[in-house]
Amino acid sequence: MQHDIALFSQLCDVLFKSETEQPVAYPIPTSKLYKEIDLSLNPKGVIEENLINILHDIVKSTPKTASKSFFNQLFGGRIGKATLGDLLAVMLNNSMYTYKVAGPQVGIEKQVIENICKLAGYAENSDGTVAPGGSMSNMMALIMARDAISPSVRTAGLTKPMTLYTSKESHYSISKNAALTGIGRDNVRLVRTNSKGEMSAKHLEELIQNDSENGYQPFFVNATAGTTVIGAFDDTEAISEVCNKNKVWLHVDGAYCGGVIFSKTHKHLIRGLEYSDSFSINAHKMLGTPLSCSIIVTQHKAQLHHSFSNEADYLYQTDGDDFNLGKTSLQCGRRNDALKIWTLWKSVGTNGLEEIVDKQFEMAEIARNYIKNNEDYNIYSFDDSISVCFNYKGVDAKELCTALYENSELMVGFGKFNNQEFIRMVTINSLLEKEDILAFFSTLEAFVANKMLKVFNS
Ligand SMILES: *Cc1c(COP(=O)(O)O)cnc(C)c1O
Repeated sequence: MQHDIALFSQLCDVLFKSETEQPVAYPIPTSKLYKEIDLSLNPKGVIEENLINILHDIVKSTPKTASKSFFNQLFGGRIGKATLGDLLAVMLNNSMYTYKVAGPQVGIEKQVIENICKLAGYAENSDGTVAPGGSMSNMMALIMARDAISPSVRTAGLTKPMTLYTSKESHYSISKNAALTGIGRDNVRLVRTNSKGEMSAKHLEELIQNDSENGYQPFFVNATAGTTVIGAFDDTEAISEVCNKNKVWLHVDGAYCGGVIFSKTHKHLIRGLEYSDSFSINAHKMLGTPLSCSIIVTQHKAQLHHSFSNEADYLYQTDGDDFNLGKTSLQCGRRNDALKIWTLWKSVGTNGLEEIVDKQFEMAEIARNYIKNNEDYNIYSFDDSISVCFNYKGVDAKELCTALYENSELMVGFGKFNNQEFIRMVTINSLLEKEDILAFFSTLEAFVANKMLKVFNS
């Protein structure tokens, strides 16, 4: 093992070097992948020297999500202490279902959950768990809402059509989860949004009342804190009033930007969160931990237990339910995703997490100001968002993003809002500085001037 740790350390050096020298790996066309790197699995193993060479190749040609040129997704960068926590979790290799097997790791997860409940403004006696990702956190919320309104669903299945409500800008997992949980995609009502992509509470109320009158059982509203493309925040406060009046469960999907609960400056974006029934946050997005680290909390501790517990004598042999976390989780065996956020949180404090979140908004503002002060650009996103959406000199967003990637220049994606396609630069890597943001634009501009326009003109 010691030998493999040394090898790991050596591979990290290769990675660090390649992140600076070649921040965007040249993509290998899928048709050539198996010819360029030996990924084959064979009856006989390879000698160590070959294995090391292959691992070097893999490290060098894998997309560098921690580099300064990665703006492609809702995660990126690498914060040392969070990565340290995750590496330690791998070495310890516990399963989070029982105190007997996970020991203090259970307390670590409970501390993370308790403190997120507090920051969300949730009442004492709230609880939560760590799910395999934001999509699964949303599914757990949906299941709790379904079981809360119709406890017999757990035994008899659905007997009356149930409807749920979400905006058309929300994450696709909401509809997917409706299909997975027997609710049905046809029973997902898409609520209209305003010009900034925020859900209309008025339209929500109309839809709920219409369904109630027509024999459906409205049971779940999903509000989003940071929509996936444009980063809009639904008005949780207004939506919570509609939910309260109509006795419908309110979930706030904060997978992308739920991290604002850590920021005194940006917390107002999620005003009314304390009136929600459940809330999810992906620490691997705004809080900068490695994938995956998704936390779901709820004010209905008993419901979490009702929906997810199962008796299992072979497993639960010591300690009480409060310390046997398998009683509230989706999985049975479960990797320790709490240690990475705990290690980071412990080392920088709640104030340090606030700085991490604030930094992303600062970088987004720098990017927006650059765009607004340069008439070759058009901007499509709004303030209070770390998704910076724009087009440059009328160049097709999709073509430009693809060309930047294929030429090993930048990793950035494109998106669509209100029928307008644009480049979406996400400033979620809190380790970046102003000069890195400006370098992004100068790289893009030089590329268009030297490569794209020539191609277009020829
Ligand atoms: C990323 C995201 C999700 C899904 O989270 P995963 O961890 O990728 O499953 C859900 N909702 C929103 C708003 C997201 O941005």
